[in-house]
Amino acid sequence: MSTPLEELARVASVCTRCRLSAGRTQVVFADGSPDADLMFIGEGPGYHEDQQGLPFVGAAGQLLNRLLGEIDLSRAEVRITNTVLCRPPGNRDPLPDELESCRPYLMEQARLVDPKVVVTLGNFATRVILERPVAISRVRGQRHPWNERVVIPTFHPAAVLRGGGETSRIMQLVRQDFAEVRAALDEAKAEAPVLVAPTEEQLGLF
Ligand code: SF4
Repeated sequence: MSTPLEELARVASVCTRCRLSAGRTQVVFADGSPDADLMFIGEGPGYHEDQQGLPFVGAAGQLLNRLLGEIDLSRAEVRITNTVLCRPPGNRDPLPDELESCRPYLMEQARLVDPKVVVTLGNFATRVILERPVAISRVRGQRHPWNERVVIPTFHPAAVLRGGGETSRIMQLVRQDFAEVRAALDEAKAEAPVLVAPTEEQLGLF
């Protein structure tokens, strides 16, 4: 029997709610763990993602994997998706009505995966999630509330690659942001209710 998340992916795989369905090779639903504590949201699938059916598989994806490794996480432990699940033609930005059509999939996926921390990658995804015309350079690395979770925006890995790569200032900033993500995750886990029965000594306190 399929899980609710698998069922959502199945429904999305044949979705024709917006015009992006016409040009896609396949729907790019997500990658990674179905119950991850950390979820990444990018803009939308590009050429390679559309071909392979997975988000962040090109050079930007390789960089994302490496940044995850630097905070002791693997790609398999996190969830990765996009604001729209089908590739916009020519890699243009998704249009408002396309975002609106796809939003229920994103919201339901976030509800089912139930991550403690969400990272938006780049200006576009950050504006969509925070629903404000923010500039990524001003809001990056900070914690923002979103549906009872924490959102931490950072630059898109593709912007790092365009901005000079490993030794660039933008890479330094992204590393700072990932360190903040690690701290937020550790704090969230520490605050999670401990699911063990209280000891007799603890019960005696009340
Ligand atoms: S982008 Fe989203 S809403 Fe549009 S067809 Fe693809 S899955 Fe459906």
